[in-house]
Amino acid sequence: MVAGLLFARAGVHTLVIEKHADFLRDFRGDTVHPSTLNLFDELGLLDALLERPHDKVEDVEAVLGGHAYRIADFTHLPGRGKFVAMMPQWEFLDFVAQEAKRYPCFDLRMRTEGVEAIERDGRVTGVRTADGLEIPARLVIAADGRGSTLRAGLPLRDLGAPIDVLWFRVPKRRTPGNQTQGYIAGGEMIVAIDRGEYFQCARVIEKGKAAVVLGRGIDAFRAEVESVVVPARGLMHALASLDDVKLLSVTLDRLTRWSRPGLLAIGDAAHAMSPVGGVGINLAIQDAVAAANILAAPIALGRDPDRLLARVQARREFPVRVIQAVQHTAHRTVIRAALAGTVQRAPWIIRLLDRAPLLQRIPARVLGLGIRREHIRSPRA
Ligand SMILES: Cc1cc2nc3c(=O)[nH]c(=O)nc-3n(C[C@H](O)[C@H](O)[C@H](O)COP(=O)(O)OP(=O)(O)OC[C@H]3O[C@@H](n4cnc5c(N)ncnc54)[C@H](O)[C@@H]3O)c2cc1C
Repeated sequence: MVAGLLFARAGVHTLVIEKHADFLRDFRGDTVHPSTLNLFDELGLLDALLERPHDKVEDVEAVLGGHAYRIADFTHLPGRGKFVAMMPQWEFLDFVAQEAKRYPCFDLRMRTEGVEAIERDGRVTGVRTADGLEIPARLVIAADGRGSTLRAGLPLRDLGAPIDVLWFRVPKRRTPGNQTQGYIAGGEMIVAIDRGEYFQCARVIEKGKAAVVLGRGIDAFRAEVESVVVPARGLMHALASLDDVKLLSVTLDRLTRWSRPGLLAIGDAAHAMSPVGGVGINLAIQDAVAAANILAAPIALGRDPDRLLARVQARREFPVRVIQAVQHTAHRTVIRAALAGTVQRAPWIIRLLDRAPLLQRIPARVLGLGIRREHIRSPRA
């Protein structure tokens, strides 16, 4: 959607297709990071974006064994993005769609599923939809997420993710501050995302163990969550049955080549991200900005984009590799230890960060702004 906005803004006829009828998917996370807020500021859209419902999170806390440790402080970051905006993703996508529709070159078709790339003479020339429609295109951007069908044929490297997530809601009262927090204790790791009237909870489990955890029944499930997530105590009865618990499969992979003539993959389609750090949305947006910076003006001028496609990967692959390496390490160390129940006390680095507020600016920078930050360089036609 962000790529659609930027290409249309540059005067390129742009069609975004989305297979669902709406954006109301709740599984993509809600974290709009400082890097993304700053990009919207560069576009002159930040104030309008922040009129959509959101909460501000200015620091990150981890609760280990019942003790809260403050590990990142966003308030000192440069630019206007000095917090993470916890904004339901349907609000964010709806906002981007609304802004993109102001450009006459932009079109959005919902309920339109791309099933394959149309190929002629070794070049992708468009997309075939589930309804059998052929949409011709000079460039197809595969931004169809971690289960991408359009990336078929591009070489994929699976990095392996030893975890899955059980995803469920626990109602709560609205509080003045956002109560989003991660909890680690007694062999459990649960992140509770505060969405105002409810916590969206992500219970991390070993990959393939969902049947075992759910097989213990609803009462055990409620008790296990309550034992760790303090604010959920006394509220778990609202989770009526295990049918309300969704299993989300976590994937960590990346294409070793993001493009072929006529087609470019970005976001999770190019590199599926784990939920660790809540950065996947923001990386996908950075890819979209890089793609527009490199390709939008040449396409608007009628030039052939093919020879430029590899530049997008060259620009974005380094940050993706670094963040995926961090996620991979987190899966194998912190999360494995948390699920094994062997985290007796907070690691020294967490204790140090908690005690030294100045040091909390370092993880805030890495998490909030990322590596090799993009800026809007694509033109406004
Ligand atoms: C459990 C879990 C929690 C997460 N939490 C966070 C978080 O808090 N913060 C964060 O930043 N990241 C989080 N992530 C990672 C994040 O979800 C992804 O990195 C991010 O959504 C990638 O964005 P994307 O636009 O590339 O793909 P997606 O967000 O997956 O969007 C792809 C879109 O394409 C549509 N689509 C798919 N196939 C087709 C098709 N064939 N035709 C037409 N449309 C199609 C889909 O409906 C979807 O709207 C989480 C991941 C998981 C697994």
